[in-house]
Amino acid sequence: MTTPPDVLDAADPLAQFRDRFVITDDVVAYLDGNSLGRLPKATAERLATFVQDEWGGRLIRGWSEGWVELPVTVGDELGAAVLGAAAGQTVIADSTSVNIYKLLHAAASVRPDRTELVIDSTSFPTDRYIVESVAASRGLDVRWIEPDLVENVTTDVLASVLSDRTAAVLLGHVDYRSATLLDLPGLTAQVHDAGAVIIWDLCHSAGAVPIDLDDNNVDFAVGCTYKYLNAGPGAPAFLYVAERHLAAATQPIAGWWSAADLFAMADRYDASPTITRMLSGTPPIGGIIAVQEGVRLVAEAGIDAIRTKSIALTDYLVERLDDAGFDIATPRDSSGRGSHVTVRHPDARWITDALIERGVIPDYREPDFIRLGLSPLTTSFAEVDAAVAVLIAVTL
Ligand SMILES: *Cc1c(COP(=O)(O)O)cnc(C)c1O
Repeated sequence: MTTPPDVLDAADPLAQFRDRFVITDDVVAYLDGNSLGRLPKATAERLATFVQDEWGGRLIRGWSEGWVELPVTVGDELGAAVLGAAAGQTVIADSTSVNIYKLLHAAASVRPDRTELVIDSTSFPTDRYIVESVAASRGLDVRWIEPDLVENVTTDVLASVLSDRTAAVLLGHVDYRSATLLDLPGLTAQVHDAGAVIIWDLCHSAGAVPIDLDDNNVDFAVGCTYKYLNAGPGAPAFLYVAERHLAAATQPIAGWWSAADLFAMADRYDASPTITRMLSGTPPIGGIIAVQEGVRLVAEAGIDAIRTKSIALTDYLVERLDDAGFDIATPRDSSGRGSHVTVRHPDARWITDALIERGVIPDYREPDFIRLGLSPLTTSFAEVDAAVAVLIAVTL
């Protein structure tokens, strides 16, 4: 017997966080926080103050009153609360796509004698496209892994492509379709044993799954802030470079913000010796402020409590979907999945439209996937229950 949703909500230690977000009545169940998280009330207030008082009131003086340091200060906050990263290795900058581009070049630059980049065919499109373009521009070869979607990249699968030619491996921590959670410690160690470096794409795990970049000796990492970190559409992404690589890692968009002295306006370029070497141009301050508010909510709730609720939510949803006989393309063992559950159905596109019409918002992914994202700070068990009822009604 499944525990009733109201009992689960009443026992949920994170339940009160839902009130910290803007919730509108027209939505019965929002199951797309893994694509675009809800708006935190604190962010709406902070952005209004920023626009009026900081931009409006302080004008150019704002740069010397804290804006210049924000990419790093918020990067450090994110590192501490979300990434398991000590200060000085994380910045908020650009988009995930641009940061993947920068980090692939940086990774290749610390393995100059190697000739191959490794990626898997189930990766998010932007990751695959950028690997191919960086490989082409540097004269490197792409080695493809073609894993089963649900099992995804295991150490067995990875072993078949690693060699003394491997420069860098790019992997998604949580698969964007199946929600498979990869073995970050094991795969990172395996890449190191082959003498290569790893880049982890944390888009679908940052803010939902505990991550220990420093403890696992991860080399590079990148991720979104508009998914489980609730920073808003197009909010800037983050990137992480392990301190040991900072001296040697070079990046391809060496703008003035990456120089050793930003305001020296020097004739000759000297790369910053710190993590700011990964910046390029003027940072989007409004967006970074939204990231800061999103990160502070995660820090307040605690990533371990968030993971506990995420598992309870996905367990509950899997059980309800199993009872109703749906085909699930997500690992059944909670230790091997992130915070969404994917249903496979030949009419997935039509069903998604029908759900949205009835106020249940999931998302559709080609060719036959309905993704149900459970965002631990905002999703209630009652919402999941309501969504399953509507899903059953429209597929009858
Ligand atoms: C969402 C997502 C992206 C998005 O990249 P943008 O540059 O923000 O568009 C990249 N990679 C993965 C794995 C994602 O899930």
